[in-house]
Amino acid sequence: MTDEDASVAAEIEELRLSALSCERCELWETRTNVVFGEGNPDTPLLIVGEGPGENEDATGRPFVGRAGALLDQALRENGLTRRHVYITNVIKCRACITEAGRTRNRPPRISEISACSHWLEQQIALIRPLVILCLGAPAANTIIHRDFRMTQERGRFFESRYARYAIAALHPAYILRQDGEMFEQTRLSLVEDIAQARRKVIEAKKEPKMTLF
Ligand code: URA
Repeated sequence: MTDEDASVAAEIEELRLSALSCERCELWETRTNVVFGEGNPDTPLLIVGEGPGENEDATGRPFVGRAGALLDQALRENGLTRRHVYITNVIKCRACITEAGRTRNRPPRISEISACSHWLEQQIALIRPLVILCLGAPAANTIIHRDFRMTQERGRFFESRYARYAIAALHPAYILRQDGEMFEQTRLSLVEDIAQARRKVIEAKKEPKMTLF
């Protein structure tokens, strides 16, 4: 690890510690843990999901449930592990609703995404990724453009104010809701979008493959 890498890692850790007491939106009232993000802060590839679910809220770690297992598998099929990337979400606390005694996840509100951009923007500024892979529409709307249409625009590269390139893929939780043929088709689209992101990193760095991750 170079001195610069060590200092980025230290700054990310300092940022994480301040995020733990965040009260920028109302989600702090119902969270168990702030799910700040984790991985390699010196990575060229940042993955941004939607927000923590039940398992992530319970553990404080991103993508640890079934969606996380699917993501890990898709990374593995591209020769990548979590040590090669950094994974975070547009919101760091679980957004959920309780109805008839049952609690379920809900999409983040614009006001929550906007409050939480305070953390995401600082994470991105420290990590300085070459490529951001957005998982799902809330991440693509935040990183790529406000009116992002997943059906028409996934799998394509965009310039972003956050990184040289950004690309969006289907969210693993959405893929898990598909059956049979559709499940395999959408799963393969995630594998291919990660492959594209990986290739773009290699192209952008113009260096031999093995030194990139
Ligand atoms: N879904 C997300 O978008 N992020 C997580 O961390 C887990 C599930």
